[in-house]
Amino acid sequence: MTYPTDPQCLFCKIVSSVIPSKKVFEDEEFFAFHDINPWAPIHFLIIPKMHIPSMAQVTVEHEPLLGRMMVLAPKLALEQGAGHYPDGGFRLVLNTGNHGGQEIHHLHMHVLAGPRPWFKG
Ligand code: AMP
Ligand code: ZN
Repeated sequence: MTYPTDPQCLFCKIVSSVIPSKKVFEDEEFFAFHDINPWAPIHFLIIPKMHIPSMAQVTVEHEPLLGRMMVLAPKLALEQGAGHYPDGGFRLVLNTGNHGGQEIHHLHMHVLAGPRPWFKG
């Protein structure tokens, strides 16, 4: 499958293994890996392989892709050790733009889980 990438982008480099990561999951459309600076006992990122800078650029064409990303998140959270709902659960975060606290401009969803307190949030 071919998809748009940005050779300068850190997360595109992680997808192409130019930069190493601790991989959680990979299929044709998505890549998931542990956050290098975790805020919670379980903290990984799910990214589309396609370079989309942020949620601010999504269009109706991305609906199916983002729908699949939302369905993937709970499955991977459980696989990574998140407790079952409602006592366990997880938190999904999509920082967007500077005011949204986004540092890496390749769309990514943080998946946070595990017993509290958490370092952040
Ligand atoms: P955000 O602030 O939403 O853009 O989050 C970017 C996240 O990427 C932060 O939580 C960083 O710790 C994480 N991060 C940055 N570089 C790497 C890397 N090389 N491998 C894994 N996670 C990273
Ligand atoms: Zn990218």
